[in-house]
Amino acid sequence: MWTVCEGCLRVFEIQKFRKQKLTAGIERVYYKCRYCDREITAYYVSKKIKDKQFQLKNEQNEEKKEQLHAELKEEIRKMNEAINKQRQKK
Ligand SMILES: [Zn+2]
Repeated sequence: MWTVCEGCLRVFEIQKFRKQKLTAGIERVYYKCRYCDREITAYYVSKKIKDKQFQLKNEQNEEKKEQLHAELKEEIRKMNEAINKQRQKK
């Protein structure tokens, strides 16, 4: 996967994704620029979100799907809130 570094604006291929554990079971997935070593966040995910995504994938019932979708949205909202709180502490 090719990308542009947001720091030095050079194009490079992502060799590997790294994981960093944050609070409340949240994981930050990121990679490093091969030129300037800048850490670039790919996405955040948590155990709860992974579970919900898995359930959603396997659910056939439309009504339950909708319910799971709403729950997933809520988990993502909570996760973003936790990430923002942690950022403000620094
Ligand atoms: Zn760079």
